[in-house]
Amino acid sequence: MTAILGGGISGLSAAYYCLENPKLESIILYEASNRLGGWIKSITSASGVIFEKGPRTIRPTGPAGENTLELVEKLKLADKVIPINLQHPAARNRMIYANEKLHLLPNSISSLFKTSEPFKRRLISIIWNDLNAKHIKKDDESIYDFVERRFGRDVADYLISPMICGICAGDPQKISVHFLMSKIFQLEQKHGSITKGLLNDAFSTAFLKEKAGDKVKDSQSRLTRLAKEERWSVWGLKEGLEQLPTALRHHLSANPQLRVDLNTKCEKIRFKKDYAEVIIKGEPIQFKKVISALSAKSLAPLLEEDHPQLSRELAAIPSTTVAVVNLHYAGDVLPVEAFGFLVPPKEKLPILGVIFDSCVFKKGSDTVLTVMMGGAWFDKYFGNKTTKDEFLSIAVNQTKKILNIKENPVDHDVAVLEDCIPQYLVGHKQRLQHIENYISKHKIPLALCGSSYHGVGLNDVILSAKQAVSQIS
Ligand SMILES: Cc1cc2nc3c(=O)[nH]c(=O)nc-3n(C[C@H](O)[C@H](O)[C@H](O)COP(=O)(O)OP(=O)(O)OC[C@H]3O[C@@H](n4cnc5c(N)ncnc54)[C@H](O)[C@@H]3O)c2cc1C
Repeated sequence: MTAILGGGISGLSAAYYCLENPKLESIILYEASNRLGGWIKSITSASGVIFEKGPRTIRPTGPAGENTLELVEKLKLADKVIPINLQHPAARNRMIYANEKLHLLPNSISSLFKTSEPFKRRLISIIWNDLNAKHIKKDDESIYDFVERRFGRDVADYLISPMICGICAGDPQKISVHFLMSKIFQLEQKHGSITKGLLNDAFSTAFLKEKAGDKVKDSQSRLTRLAKEERWSVWGLKEGLEQLPTALRHHLSANPQLRVDLNTKCEKIRFKKDYAEVIIKGEPIQFKKVISALSAKSLAPLLEEDHPQLSRELAAIPSTTVAVVNLHYAGDVLPVEAFGFLVPPKEKLPILGVIFDSCVFKKGSDTVLTVMMGGAWFDKYFGNKTTKDEFLSIAVNQTKKILNIKENPVDHDVAVLEDCIPQYLVGHKQRLQHIENYISKHKIPLALCGSSYHGVGLNDVILSAKQAVSQIS
């Protein structure tokens, strides 16, 4: 018997991949709450629009992106996919709010040759910066320090910092360079500069391709081919992204090999010589293998008694809290069509950014926005006393001021998502190595998946579930 802990998208995906594997015969998935899907939650507001409380868009590219599209196709969700191609305003127009103004980020090669606010120089000059920057040998550093060192402070402040806020609500001065720029960092470390490294890489890749006779394997998935042909930037699902865990749940419920226990919290895990004991409601239940699809922070206390060292390493991967305020306005109240805007931490505003949902997924003429707040600065701006009404008021006032909106929203929803995004701090890569070494040295029948380890995006966590299943089978 195999236990899966956690019924978020990674736990559900792990269950899906277990059922594809003939070696894993009987599976129980334990979910502490009364629903499946974890942070993926799409609600229909009283005013009749969809409010996404968590993720809303997914990238189609790379092996992880293709894997998700394959899964979507197998779950018969293909006709619900809403593609956003590279020419769509939501793909082309991404903004930052700096020095009390909204600025469009460069979106074409030609824009790199112009000086555009808030940058004080042509962005193409970062190549010059990079070629002349001092080379320092390191294993890891903060993404802010790396970008500032190679490209200059303005790029670190106005390009990378808001991007990090948008992806993981983290502090770029603490997040590891490996979180987003691992390959570029490694090229810089090897060749002394990013530019030289990229050129070298481009030449050797071209050479290898030529040698291999361009035998690039065509993807099996129709959606993946379509995404390439139509040049999708991101995609979403009609009726909201929660359609994905819902479809997984339907698929899984048809299979008698799997049991799903809701409202069932795993309280402790003990590993014996040949089996694992999962403690539920004080009672030990024996399993051959355990897949944890919990965040590292939730898993750490479950292992504390028997494996304090492993527990400490897991507990050192923290998570941040984000307040999500969804707003529905009657009519089109936006000054520009775009994905939304992000706020660099340097601006010291209590919001991380605003997503223009109704631009990304157009439906009717009304406006739907999502305001993200807190993250690494949650305690600084809100502490634990801020009420939902106060979050709403801050979100409405900030969007009114920045977007020059005169109207009040006709509907809203406020939620505080506690510890929702793991933070890959400097040293994360080494920490993962310690965790993996510990598990393999002690021959613990435990596989880890989910957003705490190898990527926080949905593609990453779904792929991590597939890998966890192949690891234990
Ligand atoms: C606001 C927000 C916006 C995001 N936007 C995007 C986006 O646009 N695109 C994208 O790709 N990604 C996005 N992400 C990231 C993505 O949503 C997450 O990485 C992903 O949903 C994490 O899934 P998971 O299954 O690993 O974890 P979770 O969703 O956290 O699931 C873990 C589950 O385990 C359960 N659990 C906890 N403890 C126990 C226990 N002891 N026993 C049993 N069960 C337990 C929990 O109740 C939960 O259901 C966003 C995340 C957030 C928070």
